[in-house]
Amino acid sequence: MPGMARKIVSVLSLAVLGLVLFPALSAVPAHALSAHVRCVQEQLNASGYREGPVDGRLGDPTRAALGLFARDNGLEIDSDVSSDTAVTWCRRIGLTDPALRAFWPSARRPVDLSIAPDVPRDIAARIEATLVPEMQSLSALLGLELAATDEVIVVRNDTWRIALPRMQALRGANDNPFFAEAMERHCTGINRLGGWTVSGLTILCLRDDAVLGESLSERDLRHALRHEALHLIQHQVSALRVRRINETPGWDPHEVPIWMAEGTAVILEGRYPAQSAVNTIDRRLIGTFDDRDWPNLRQLETRHGLKIDYDGVYLGGAVAVSYLIARHGGYPALGQLYERVGEGRRFDNAFADVFGLSLAGFYEEFAALGNTPG
Ligand SMILES: [Zn+2]
Repeated sequence: MPGMARKIVSVLSLAVLGLVLFPALSAVPAHALSAHVRCVQEQLNASGYREGPVDGRLGDPTRAALGLFARDNGLEIDSDVSSDTAVTWCRRIGLTDPALRAFWPSARRPVDLSIAPDVPRDIAARIEATLVPEMQSLSALLGLELAATDEVIVVRNDTWRIALPRMQALRGANDNPFFAEAMERHCTGINRLGGWTVSGLTILCLRDDAVLGESLSERDLRHALRHEALHLIQHQVSALRVRRINETPGWDPHEVPIWMAEGTAVILEGRYPAQSAVNTIDRRLIGTFDDRDWPNLRQLETRHGLKIDYDGVYLGGAVAVSYLIARHGGYPALGQLYERVGEGRRFDNAFADVFGLSLAGFYEEFAALGNTPG
């Protein structure tokens, strides 16, 4: 079914992309990550482990207090608090005591949504009405509580550059050309809607000719929203470390493999029946590989995998996640996997704990699945 596969991929590639915002946003220097550090500080203060200003700055006193809190509450501390992991620490601290969750940014607002004024009203209204419920349904499916207030920016492709400073500020990578290149690539591609997510921020970029119900179907809009929302959840729960933006081949064993990150997003978009039928592997997905090489997941752990087998990352990842859900614990197991990675566990160790088989063993099972008649 090469036609089907192509269609899926063309819609998905839209799911990778990017961008931007209005003058008001670009003028906001506030580091969203500091909100997560403040969350950590507030909870440590409230629980008596720290007495200090809630200033969003990571210093030795905050680190020391967190170390004590973690020790006393049985939290593994092999994930140091940093700008990358503050969001997961904010969450982990609150999970130890319901009273502390009042300090979670999500207690005030689950999402900060900004929509550029030139986005068609009906599309804007649909996003406004469905974004939060979609995030809530995804987190419930995975058995995860969300602590952070993520940011979603919706723009049109002629204005995406305005959002660049926002993304760079969030990532603390002011001069990294990767962001501009990636955003331009996704925002000016062939799809009607592109999405790109980094920690704490999703940018949805609409083509100028996107018309809801015509060139942009309601279904594809929903899937794109859910895909990127799932990435936001991955980031805040696991400090998602698929961030080898230089596409170096080496894989940090603490990172979530890109086949897993994207495969999870594809499955949870709602595009495949695995959404409701968790006891069966989606044979349609497997069928997309009838006339192409079965993906070698081991080679698709870093972003480099996107260069050597782009479809393998998305579709092969989706088959793999479908398989794991069906055979090894359902959606909650998937949620637990991301939580353990957020605790600083090596991915392969977390994987073995949650699914009951080694990552290497899974790769063998997956390879065999490709040889099984559908
Ligand atoms: Zn994605």
